[in-house]
Amino acid sequence: MSETTVQATAGQFINGRPVRGNSGDVCKVLDPSNGEVVATLDSAGPADVEAAVAAARAAFPGWSGATPAERSAVLTRFAALLEERAEEFAQLESRQAGKPIRLTREFDVPGTIDNIAFFAGAARNLEGKASAEYSPDHTSSIRREAIGVIGSIAPWNYPLQMAAWKILPAIAAGNTIVLKPAEITPLTSLLFAQTASDAGVPDGVINVLCGRGSTVGAALLRHPDVDMLSFTGSTGVGRTVLEAAATTAKRVHLELGGKAPLVVFDDADLEAAIHGAVAGSLINAGQDCTAATRAIVHRSLYPAFVEGVAELFAKVKLGPTSDPATDMGPLVSQAHRDKVAAMVERARGYARVLGGGIPGGELEAGSYYRPTLVADAPADSEIVRDEVFGPVLAAMPFDTDDEAIALANDTPYGLAASAWTRDVYRALRATREIRSGCVWVNDHIPIISEMPHGGMKESGFGKDMSTYSFDEYTVIKHVMFDLTGQSVKDWHRTVFSL
Ligand code: NAD
Repeated sequence: MSETTVQATAGQFINGRPVRGNSGDVCKVLDPSNGEVVATLDSAGPADVEAAVAAARAAFPGWSGATPAERSAVLTRFAALLEERAEEFAQLESRQAGKPIRLTREFDVPGTIDNIAFFAGAARNLEGKASAEYSPDHTSSIRREAIGVIGSIAPWNYPLQMAAWKILPAIAAGNTIVLKPAEITPLTSLLFAQTASDAGVPDGVINVLCGRGSTVGAALLRHPDVDMLSFTGSTGVGRTVLEAAATTAKRVHLELGGKAPLVVFDDADLEAAIHGAVAGSLINAGQDCTAATRAIVHRSLYPAFVEGVAELFAKVKLGPTSDPATDMGPLVSQAHRDKVAAMVERARGYARVLGGGIPGGELEAGSYYRPTLVADAPADSEIVRDEVFGPVLAAMPFDTDDEAIALANDTPYGLAASAWTRDVYRALRATREIRSGCVWVNDHIPIISEMPHGGMKESGFGKDMSTYSFDEYTVIKHVMFDLTGQSVKDWHRTVFSL
């Protein structure tokens, strides 16, 4: 481990320094590919939560008062430094989250660098309306201001990217932040904060606390000096965040679960749809909130689609995460793998299961699960309705376009979807009528820093990435100037007359 990685194992990053937690509790970070301990961190205790929030509060006036150019300059240096440390981030992310090294090198880390570079530019593009006279006697103008201290909680599936998505728009807009990553994958968030600090982000602007949701997370959610909560994770915990926010009327941004449909119309390029379904459902071993989970396929193509996907699923190479030839790594933990396996076992009772199962041999010590296609699952079955968050794709046929759109929308979630067709009118209809925060046409998964990411329905509200995220992390203030200079204004007559 390099010196920066060792610093990351201190457990907390508070006020510009690595700090050991004071709770007496520990977070054990395991490598999901072999069960080895990667690091044991002291969790944050109540005093650490207080110190982190206090550091963020103290840093707020200076950071929010910096010019956009100053914030942009430091973020530009941050992007460059993270690029220098790219391999270290790729290795650490791969080990703590069980991701194949090819994925962290080619997806997680470059995506994070691009995100920092994007927000370095976007920091200089915080817009408001021009000043104007909306009443004859006044000039009005709009100020867009940072909110204050952001309390943010992130999940384990993309620990580095989630840290970036939560931290960057918040600080680019002038806020300061306390982030609690998932307790099983905190290392790259800590390294991210250390690297930002090394690049010149002032002390207290980014603080990271390591610990369980029920203790550290809950304390952050209810802290009276936290102005806004930004949460990415399950819809169930999202409800807890909303309840906690009610106590001090905090602003909330929620990125929650998903159950994305992949709709294949009868005129689609079948080979493209099959490849898209495989990549779209197996990315990050299916532990992706936008992953394709429900293939809704026209009956005329359905048998060939099922056969094609099952064939490719069987060819996907599971292996050690450090091997660049490995396509798919393990699930994040044994407990999560067992939950996925149990859902597939139950599906055998009502659908056709192709593939699946726990591999043995050299992969036995890891939490691997083979790609699984569940065909002919009823629309109201568990595998179709609930988040599996694993390498499992459910498939079902449809007959009419109306039915396809209805099936796509038949979910409490609304995060992402894709439509596969060569007919422009069908594509337009699907993008208009499918209720989700993103609809791809003839692809599934690509994300870009310039475009917003966020859900509808029980997938939450608010946007990550893009300049739209500034709407979450800033408040609009109306400033009104009197133009008359009169001591007694005309409108005073409506209240009192002397
Ligand atoms: P989770 O909701 O169990 O945990 C997320 C975070 O919340 C963790 O840091 C956890 O410690 C914390 N937490 C748990 N209970 C808490 C409590 N009572 N108070 C405060 N914090 C608490 O989710 P997960 O299992 O880590 O991640 C998977 C989920 O995240 C899936 O539902 C997935 O769809 C969702 N997700 C959504 C997006 C998105 O952009 N919409 C992105 C990634 C993941």
